[in-house]
Amino acid sequence: MGEAGQRRAWNRRWGLGAARRREMAATATSGAGRCRLSKVGAGRRPPPARVRVAVRLRPFVDGTAEASDPPCVRGMDSCSLEIANWRNHQETLKYQFDAFYGERSTQQDIYAGSVQPILRHLLEGQNASVLAYGPTGAGKTHTMLGSPEQPGVIPRALMDLLQLTREEGAEGRPWALSVTMSYLEIYQEKVLDLLDPASGDLVIREDCRGNILIPGLTQKPITSFADFERHFLPASRNRTVGATRLNQRSSRSHAVLLVKVDQRERLAPFRQREGKLYLIDLAGSEDNRRTGNKGLRLKESGAINTSLFVLGKVVDALNQGLPRVPYRDSKLTRLLQDSLGGSAHSILIANIAPERRFYLDTVSALNFAARSKEVINRPFTNESLQLHVLAPVKLSQKELLGPSEVKRARGPEEEELGSPEPIAAPASTSQKLSPLQKLSSMDPAMLERLLNLDRLLGSQGSQGAPLLSTPRRERMVLMKTVEEKDLEIELESLDASEPEARAEDCWELQISPELLAHGRQKILDLLNEGSARDLRSLQRIGPKKAQLIVGWRELHGPFSQVEDLELVEGITGKQMESFLKANILGLAAGQRCGPS
Ligand code: ADP
Ligand code: MG
Repeated sequence: MGEAGQRRAWNRRWGLGAARRREMAATATSGAGRCRLSKVGAGRRPPPARVRVAVRLRPFVDGTAEASDPPCVRGMDSCSLEIANWRNHQETLKYQFDAFYGERSTQQDIYAGSVQPILRHLLEGQNASVLAYGPTGAGKTHTMLGSPEQPGVIPRALMDLLQLTREEGAEGRPWALSVTMSYLEIYQEKVLDLLDPASGDLVIREDCRGNILIPGLTQKPITSFADFERHFLPASRNRTVGATRLNQRSSRSHAVLLVKVDQRERLAPFRQREGKLYLIDLAGSEDNRRTGNKGLRLKESGAINTSLFVLGKVVDALNQGLPRVPYRDSKLTRLLQDSLGGSAHSILIANIAPERRFYLDTVSALNFAARSKEVINRPFTNESLQLHVLAPVKLSQKELLGPSEVKRARGPEEEELGSPEPIAAPASTSQKLSPLQKLSSMDPAMLERLLNLDRLLGSQGSQGAPLLSTPRRERMVLMKTVEEKDLEIELESLDASEPEARAEDCWELQISPELLAHGRQKILDLLNEGSARDLRSLQRIGPKKAQLIVGWRELHGPFSQVEDLELVEGITGKQMESFLKANILGLAAGQRCGPS
């Protein structure tokens, strides 16, 4: 097929006929939708932003008549929804988000309401990310990619961004703009370059200013939508066609499209800016153990998607303001370090399905989403002075990702929470409420799991209370307990040969060798020279243990290594390990460069 023929085929693939292209371009430039894409506020200190959370309920798709299988979840208004409470058929559980998109919402509703508003930040040198979350079959790929008839977030965002950068970077305008794309997949904790499938697992690095880079990742310059398609469509096919169990693979891998917008000022002071946009179709959030034939304890290497699991932990840590956020425990969270709780404007779109068989996954996706909206991002502008003034923008195909050499340090850390921008009300959610699915004839495996969950919640004294109507603090504790319980079950189901799932045990790998050595030395000095009072400043050392340590030192002389603590009578090996972990991680968190 010639290039023109190929172009036409791709346009058909996206449903991007001339009319739709005009419609999308018009949306980008006319301000249709809620937000006009423009380079407003460039140079101003950006207001703080938090992660927006939208929920999208897809319609019934498998041909089952809705009447015979009414939905177990429904929208109430443009921000809230309710789901049947399996414990009490008279009750529902209610959730509120930044936006709720009902089953009749269109791709344009989601794009204009939740995605388009954050794109302008790219031209301010800030990062943005869009993550589609939810169980397999709930509509993540439909939302992100879409179909020829209904293009999703990715083609719409690319169309708008390219149009905008063409306008803003035109001759005579103050900034020269260039756009590049990379496309990668995280599968079984390997980072794979979809634009160069022959390259192996890539490493993710962080510079000392907190910028995340992937050296060696292919980066293609794009100046038009046709350029984008030329790279993206074959790469998408790479993603799935190569795998024999393609469904399994695509539902367990995270597809990450990275679009970078570089700006160079044409006149003094020759500033330069870089904004990154991540568009991510996450792996299915369903519990794969349930899909097997051996029930809950299924030993199956893919039972836990490490990255998704850690994503939940990262969100928890950010919500609770913990000093250590476990970004390094998975590839996805490492990559998103500057997109969640970092410098980006993020939107998480939780996709859910109305069918009863999705019930448990829906509850779990909603709980995940309810936590995520507490995350606070701290936007800052990636701006610096150009080293090579007015050098033409030259991009090699394998230019390293990431910051320019002279990227300025992170902006002020201590911004206060701003009130979120209102999200446009999706028109389609005002429909009359339909009856909810009665969950009386539930499948026994699901019932057993729900009963376990219920027992756990009951033991916490919250029997009968819908999760989200409990006070926030209590809710966090409950959800954490449930997750910990879940983790216990998950870990039981793992072979010892799956070390990556036991990230907690590998805490020493999470910090640099220098910091580790420094932390050990600092603690050793304190053990050998500190008074009992000094020793109490250490984690896990109370007055009694402090006395024991001083006593041991007087009897035996200085400790030669921190592990000698185990020799002190009254301190077990396990206590020694937990002491080391708590103190070294604490020190490392306090000394990190960039945000913790
Ligand atoms: P996921 O990527 O989460 O596994 P998909 O996006 O593949 O789910 O969606 C599963 C099926 O449902 C597909 O056939 C898709 O076309 C259809 N679908 C998903 N969302 C919608 C929607 N909002 N409207 C119509 N069909 C949808
Ligand atoms: Mg999918």
